[in-house]
Amino acid sequence: MRVVLVAAVAALLAVQPAMAEPRSSILGVSQAGSPLLLYELGNGPRRVLILGGQHGAPEANTVELVNGLLDYFLANPQEVPPGIVLDVLPVANPDGMAAGIRQFSSGVDPNRNWGGSDWRADAFDSNAVFRVGLGGPEPFSEPETRTLADWILGTRPALVVNYHSAGGFMFGARGGLASDLSGAYADASGYSWPSPGVGGQRSPLGYQASGSMNVWLREQGIPAILVELSTSRSTEIERNLAGLNAALSQLANAP
Ligand SMILES: [Zn+2]
Repeated sequence: MRVVLVAAVAALLAVQPAMAEPRSSILGVSQAGSPLLLYELGNGPRRVLILGGQHGAPEANTVELVNGLLDYFLANPQEVPPGIVLDVLPVANPDGMAAGIRQFSSGVDPNRNWGGSDWRADAFDSNAVFRVGLGGPEPFSEPETRTLADWILGTRPALVVNYHSAGGFMFGARGGLASDLSGAYADASGYSWPSPGVGGQRSPLGYQASGSMNVWLREQGIPAILVELSTSRSTEIERNLAGLNAALSQLANAP
């Protein structure tokens, strides 16, 4: 029996394509001491940052999705277009994942602490509840936010894709390359891409988000897509892989 099992495993390994080993680095350390682990694959001058888990365990399906995307590109490295490096951060808020909360250990919201022009100390959470101190005592008060912001400013990614749940829509700036990348993602994935303020459209959030990573990135001139998965349960990996591949090929062909 055991011999049969060993033979079966050996046969399975023989037909599995060899998985590429990702390069990895530790960007920094969370407040509770967990590493912020970044994986890197592909080669070239254009970097694409893909992150999940900003809102901890309540949005754990985004971690599962980003890990799934990482596994996919490791098994299919030829799918990363030439000239592009994928920088993959599956768990942007490891403390929130471990503690079962949306926030950092300090109670500050990872997506309300960014120092764009709309930052506020008191802010609405993802459930539209207004909470004192949710944005932190000052912009970039949290080590995780500072670590990621420093990395972004040093690296200047060509695109950032940030996964959240649940809403079933996506955000992305209008105009220029950012618009082309968001449009490609929206078309291929089927997520709605509302344009608040245009044609009387209202923000699908239903509240005013402040201090978000997306607004800060826009003000830095870095194209960014924020996807709100439809539920907080499944990864929706097929449609997100389609969206990501479309955006990557758009980026690879951009002048
Ligand atoms: Zn979220």
